[in-house]
Amino acid sequence: HIKETGKNNYQFFNAGIDHYLQRKLAVEKQLRSAIENDELTLYYQPQLDLQTMKVAGVEALIRWDNKELGTVSPAEFIPIAEETNLIKTLGEWVLTEACRQNKQWQNAGFNKIKVAVNISIKQFNEADFVDTVAKVLAATNLEATYLELEITEGIAISDPQIAINKLHQLKELGVTISIDDFGTGYSSLSYLQKYPIDLIKIDQSFLKGILTNKENTAIVVTILSMAQHLNLDVIAEGVETESEFQYLLSTSCNLAQGYYIGHPQSADEIQKEFNKSFKKLQTRELNL
Ligand code: C2E
Ligand code: MG
Ligand code: MG
Ligand code: MG
Repeated sequence: HIKETGKNNYQFFNAGIDHYLQRKLAVEKQLRSAIENDELTLYYQPQLDLQTMKVAGVEALIRWDNKELGTVSPAEFIPIAEETNLIKTLGEWVLTEACRQNKQWQNAGFNKIKVAVNISIKQFNEADFVDTVAKVLAATNLEATYLELEITEGIAISDPQIAINKLHQLKELGVTISIDDFGTGYSSLSYLQKYPIDLIKIDQSFLKGILTNKENTAIVVTILSMAQHLNLDVIAEGVETESEFQYLLSTSCNLAQGYYIGHPQSADEIQKEFNKSFKKLQTRELNL
């Protein structure tokens, strides 16, 4: 390729790589001190129970504000944390903070809800991951039923049997397990039977144009029907419009999450939603 494209393109290509590596190194360097410098916070996005129309849970989403780099998206820094082994410390911080916050909400008298924490593949694959979860629950005094772990289909790539064993140990602790971004992985559906999971999160890409895009409608309908047969709960991610929401209300989908229901917000902001009911939305006219 280098020969074909000539000298100028080669230099351009080189500069591109250079820029990319420099950014990566800068992110890594700043990330190393982010926890001790108090630069990380968790935002929380509501998950609405479509039967009760109340907030049943919140997903914890990490936010990072750095004095040199500004706001860095988790989509950028989580993969870097995974590559550099920073994910272990970072992941433990997220787990602890999410459980601590949920316990604090309970102590303040709000309806008890679940907090869902994203677990990266490398974090899940750490030999002491189950111990870490048990340790965090004990330290924060949160009952395991109020913790949900969001994993992705990729956890089983290296060794499916180890992954299954670990999931069983987590289930024994009493935590809820969900499969995030469901439908985007490449693993076979058979793992749904083998894994002790509770919930699948339909990836937000399938919600787009759910009323007009026949392929997406077919995918969502199929996932919902499969989940019913396997006795799994389903949460739809990325619900952005009223019509998407109304569509879900007409299905067996259990929970919904997305900008239409609520954006990720600070702990102080989100707690204002906890004892509210979303009933008003349900009675609105269907406006397709
Ligand atoms: P995810 O777990 O699939 O989280 C959903 C992402 O979609 C979040 O982006 C959320 O802000 C965004 N989102 C929510 N509702 C809508 C919607 O209606 N429309 C659209 N277009 N987007 C919506 P965010 O916060 O930037 O996080 C991106 C990804 O970074 C997450 O995807 C997750 O994989 C990862 N991540 C975030 N926080 C953590 C964490 O604490 N630990 C780990 N390991 N990964 C995390
Ligand atoms: Mg998630
Ligand atoms: Mg997701
Ligand atoms: Mg994602």
